[in-house]
Amino acid sequence: MELEKPQESSYLYCIRCGLCLAVCPTYREYLKETTSPRGRVALTRKGLEGKLELSPNLFEQMYGCFACMACNDVCPVGIRPADLALSMRQVEEQKHPKRWKQIVFKGLLSKAGRLELATLPLRLYEKLGVRRLVYWLRLDRLLPDRIRDLEAMLPRIPQRPLRRVLPEITEAHGEARYRVGYFLGCAQSLLFAEQSAATLRVLARNGCTVITPKEIECCGMPARGYGRMDLVRSQAMRNIAAFERRDVDVIVTDCATCGSMLKEYDSLFRDDPEWKERAAAFRSKVRDVSEFLAEIPLEKPSGRIESRVTYHDPCHLRRAQKVWREPRKILSLIDGLEFVELPEADWCCGSAGSQLITHYETSKKVLDRKLDHIEETGADTVASGCPGCRMQLETGLKRRGKPVRVVHPVALLDEAYGGVDGQRNH
Ligand code: SF4
Ligand code: SF4
Repeated sequence: MELEKPQESSYLYCIRCGLCLAVCPTYREYLKETTSPRGRVALTRKGLEGKLELSPNLFEQMYGCFACMACNDVCPVGIRPADLALSMRQVEEQKHPKRWKQIVFKGLLSKAGRLELATLPLRLYEKLGVRRLVYWLRLDRLLPDRIRDLEAMLPRIPQRPLRRVLPEITEAHGEARYRVGYFLGCAQSLLFAEQSAATLRVLARNGCTVITPKEIECCGMPARGYGRMDLVRSQAMRNIAAFERRDVDVIVTDCATCGSMLKEYDSLFRDDPEWKERAAAFRSKVRDVSEFLAEIPLEKPSGRIESRVTYHDPCHLRRAQKVWREPRKILSLIDGLEFVELPEADWCCGSAGSQLITHYETSKKVLDRKLDHIEETGADTVASGCPGCRMQLETGLKRRGKPVRVVHPVALLDEAYGGVDGQRNH
């Protein structure tokens, strides 16, 4: 079978101007051409033209890319080095398929129930008090740095995944003005259930009847990051069909990563006219929750939050979806909240999916710079619309012993509405 690989036009016209070097977090850390967007474009070209062996070393540079997309935005001739690096991972996967990817992306992530079962030990770790004991006895200090950081990455794990607790239909409070489909991402359901419950309260309070299909699958981003586009397509097909059955006005998500993947569904089916059309109809409805809330008349919260808050832009929201004003607008609605802009707010935090696991040292360096900036702001709260970024930032802040909380901006809005009590009394 012929290899699915990037088109020649996606790398051929690089003029080697170097503009992309100035915005690349991996280049900034190592100052080596191979760790830069321009270098990755050159490696792709040489590899595909047969002038360089498609070796593990070459592919490693593609996996070393944080897919932050900053380079895509600055290239004057329209080269998209971030997309190229992802496409090259797909080339590698076709040449050397890895069994573990099949197990993780098809076996686990394709079925929410299986993923919930697989994460049961984590819930028991929290529920049986083992985690508290580890911290109380300061056993975490005995762990190697990398393991300690991975442990610290876990937020307070909810006892039940939100998918199991939420009703399929959450009724609007008062007059129902919008029929909203809610895409509940895996991380939101398993790790950030409380913050997503807050999202649903905010939507219902503002006139939305919210429909949450329980049979949806992973959005496809993890499989895309590891070059399994075949699985991304099958996940996309099942998700599109699930929302078609509900006939909703918009499809909202509070996960920046899910949102950016869902908005790419129409590009997955170029050679399939039927699915291309269905995916385009689906894509036209997708909104990040902050984007949707900025479009509708929003009730001004009566509560105050006395807090100094800064905001970190997730790459999947700012770069992929061009959504950055909207979360700030939401925060500006809250009385008492003092907003302070974060230096380099739109630079990657080093999370990039699984980089803290796969490229620990680089991820830590990138995170450290972000944490320095957070400290400069003097903020006691960091808001961000991506679960991966929030886990990364929390890990770093815990490591530094900083009592800074990390939340979704819509969770702050919910707090200003009074949270669960505010919902009861509304
Ligand atoms: S990828 Fe674009 S910005 Fe980077 S060196 Fe090539 S032409 Fe310049
Ligand atoms: S996506 Fe980010 S990390 Fe990757 S090459 Fe572009 S700027 Fe560098």
